[in-house]
Amino acid sequence: MAKLTIEDMAVFCKKKGFVYPNSEIYGGFSGFWDYGHLGVELKNNIKNEWWRYHVQSREDIVGIDGSIITHPKVWEASGHVESFQDIMLACSKCREKIRADHFIEEKLQINVEGHKAEEINGIIKKNKLKCPKCSSDFEDTEQFNLMFKTNVGPKEDRSSVAYLRPETAQLIFADFKLVADNARLKLPFGIAQMGKAFRNEISPRDFLFRSREFEQMEIEYFAHPDKTEKCPFIDRVINTELNFYSAEMQQKNEKPVRMKIKDALKKKILGEWHAYWLATGQNWFTNLGAKSENFRVRKHLKEEKSHYALDTWDLEYNFPFGWKELQGIANRADFDLKQHMKFSGKDLSIFDEETKKKILPHVIAEPSLGVDRSFLVFMFDAYNFDNKRGNVVLRLHPKLAPIKAGVFPLVNKLEKEAKEVYDLIKTEFNCIYDKSGSVGRRYARADEIGIPYCATIDFDTLKDESVTLRDISTTKQIKLKIADLKETIRRLISNEIKFEEAGKLVK
Ligand code: ATP
Repeated sequence: MAKLTIEDMAVFCKKKGFVYPNSEIYGGFSGFWDYGHLGVELKNNIKNEWWRYHVQSREDIVGIDGSIITHPKVWEASGHVESFQDIMLACSKCREKIRADHFIEEKLQINVEGHKAEEINGIIKKNKLKCPKCSSDFEDTEQFNLMFKTNVGPKEDRSSVAYLRPETAQLIFADFKLVADNARLKLPFGIAQMGKAFRNEISPRDFLFRSREFEQMEIEYFAHPDKTEKCPFIDRVINTELNFYSAEMQQKNEKPVRMKIKDALKKKILGEWHAYWLATGQNWFTNLGAKSENFRVRKHLKEEKSHYALDTWDLEYNFPFGWKELQGIANRADFDLKQHMKFSGKDLSIFDEETKKKILPHVIAEPSLGVDRSFLVFMFDAYNFDNKRGNVVLRLHPKLAPIKAGVFPLVNKLEKEAKEVYDLIKTEFNCIYDKSGSVGRRYARADEIGIPYCATIDFDTLKDESVTLRDISTTKQIKLKIADLKETIRRLISNEIKFEEAGKLVK
């Protein structure tokens, strides 16, 4: 089967009720998407798993949920008002607008992230690049701020201008002192946040990959300014293997190299903190069923790094349209806290018990991950067409599956008993009841939306109160008692038992 494209995925997501184009009845709205019933369940599961793994199961990270519209000074301090910009190319004839760095990368295979408008104009002219739609010349490039503006209060003038947040991270810095004092955390520690972010992208594309409204899951991880080398948790990931794509490998046009964290550290490819957060980022995905061969970690080249970042690596995924950023991990040092101190006039330093001194911590890592891009990763790695079954099988990890179980009566005569089973497990899991069509057809429908377990009520149920449970990944079936069904599904989802051991295997 040909490789699934991003357009194929968009069609599949719409057909099955995961994601719809926003306001489709009005012709859609570029850069905006609506999640349907299955999509919102999957997205919530992704967010809940992320929060559990990165916040609830750790002692050193706490969370916040900041507001979407915040004091405009926050975005002045962060530098977004002045420089959160992309360079736009506008066609002189058909008015097509495109993002300059993406267009040049596509046409000339060179990375121009961070280049100034004049440099971009020079490249366009030198290489005689024309509008991809009508082949006319471009006008001189324009800087374009990506923040959405709004007005707060009844007056629409300059003094009431505010912005929809273009990232969740800055709220963490603005609240830093309150959180640090309340949570009584000792360095190193992190503050996490997830939620909506808005960017007026010049050319939204590739389905959920680049949209104008999306969600992020971010952590600011703070360390003592004198202790930025050693990561106390490095042993937890020392044997994790990653595909490393260092700056040197990129410059020499070499391929990424797969190696263990301990070997990459020995070779000084990266520091301990970046190694720890990159491995932790990838492990979260692979623990939930994503395929490690589809990930690589790439260091930012000098020209693409933000001016304040000491070092940045991206966790990238092999999307159908190429290797692209899934999560950025920057070392921002004390840039943000210093900026907010300057703009607010407030002291954001904290007292260090060990040295008995006030210090301004460094953000040793800012793992910043897109929820919608994660959604795509899990969908692509789960999706496959099973030739033997003749249908799509969406092999989502049971923890992520939007619907955990299906309940089917073998024949309509058994509806009453099947409904009782459905009512019993519905109190604990998201599940569906399906009585239409052959059982084979019902299994196929369940496969396509990734329902991991399907319970069929047959004539044995009347005799011995048993049901037949089918596993999506192997199609193996077991018999077990109705009384054990709820607990068995719970243990299967949380990986406490193997399917074959959860009941009597049906030969
Ligand atoms: P890109 O280079 O792809 O524009 P970025 O470097 O601007 O991304 P960050 O500012 O580092 O992205 O944002 C952190 C994460 O938020 C990204 O890794 C991505 O997963 C997600 N993200 C950023 N912009 C978008 C968008 N327009 N649509 C969907 N997700 C996004």
